[in-house]
Amino acid sequence: MVDLQTQYQHIKADIDRGIQSVIDSASFIKGPAVASFQKNLEQYTGAKHVIPVGNGTDALQIALMALGLKQGDEVITPTFTFIATAEVVALLGLKPVVVDVDWDTMNLSIEAVRKAITPKTKAIVPVHLFGQCADMEALMAIAKEHNLYIVEDACQAIGSVYTFSDGTQKQAATMGDIGCTSFFPSKNLGCYGDGGAIFTNDDDLAAKMRAIANHGMVVRYYHDTVGVNSRLDSIQAAILDAKLPHLNSYIAARQAAAAYYDKAFANHPNILIPARNEHSTHVFHQYTLRLIDVDRDALRNALAEAEIPAMIYYPVPLHMQKAYQDERYKTGDFPVAERLAACVLSLPMHTELDEEQLAYITQHVLNALNTKH
Ligand SMILES: *Cc1c(COP(=O)(O)O)cnc(C)c1O
Repeated sequence: MVDLQTQYQHIKADIDRGIQSVIDSASFIKGPAVASFQKNLEQYTGAKHVIPVGNGTDALQIALMALGLKQGDEVITPTFTFIATAEVVALLGLKPVVVDVDWDTMNLSIEAVRKAITPKTKAIVPVHLFGQCADMEALMAIAKEHNLYIVEDACQAIGSVYTFSDGTQKQAATMGDIGCTSFFPSKNLGCYGDGGAIFTNDDDLAAKMRAIANHGMVVRYYHDTVGVNSRLDSIQAAILDAKLPHLNSYIAARQAAAAYYDKAFANHPNILIPARNEHSTHVFHQYTLRLIDVDRDALRNALAEAEIPAMIYYPVPLHMQKAYQDERYKTGDFPVAERLAACVLSLPMHTELDEEQLAYITQHVLNALNTKH
């Protein structure tokens, strides 16, 4: 699905130099490498504050901790996402309220969000799924109207740009009150281990989140709030600092691969290619097809025989997960998410796909579909 070895070979000298300089300096925690990456990421995204943390899940948790919510407060999230989004809500004793998604963009359905709002709703966590921003203009209008926080889960969408109807352009993770991203190795900006970051333009929230990520501490050994320990380590920061200047070309490479796939599959009776939200660029963390009247397992098996990986993100919506069983929800409540879970298939997507590989993959997909029908 990804090819991190080849990507590394192209920038090996810079990465190796970055890692070596951390080892030479022996500042493994909170050293100059972290400060440098933080500053460069602020510059890249336009966010006033970047707070590097241990991973994307921690970023979401710390963001929600900073909002001062009370037990039982409701937080709206899509039911079609990676589990981390709702997991942190549940862990903090808040109440996850899951809603359905839009069939085309696979992101939060605005109509569903509106219907889910109650007097206890305090925050919305939109997920910019697969690398394309949710409908932020509509969500921000709803948040304003109902006095809600927005915490963007931009773990899959770093570098995606959203254009508001007045022409203003903003990066994913910098539009809501708080944004979160992950530097898991396979993410669009990935390190060589775990990493994450929080984004905000609000000075107070930034100070709170910095303290929470550091054991609730501002002055050393004086703890004002209950915090956690979540840090981006210096070696990961050095790797990310070496990769950040390439992020735009990495995005372009993913978009070029997506364009190749699009062309090969457009107008196929059994395939819907990823729909684009006209307000957002798509950075293709995943290239995800919706299959219509296709035996998905048979197709996956045929691809596997040709050594082509294809993954199902995500096979089970949140409301149907065992750990999240809730009397409020039952199978059938969120028909779009359930239909997507049954028909999506993600193809290999990374920065190193060449035409030969893309031709091989698309030919095998098309051949497998023809023989199955
Ligand atoms: C990857 C991911 C996360 C979690 O990131 P980690 O760094 O693995 O903790 C959260 N939400 C979404 C949508 C993700 O894709």
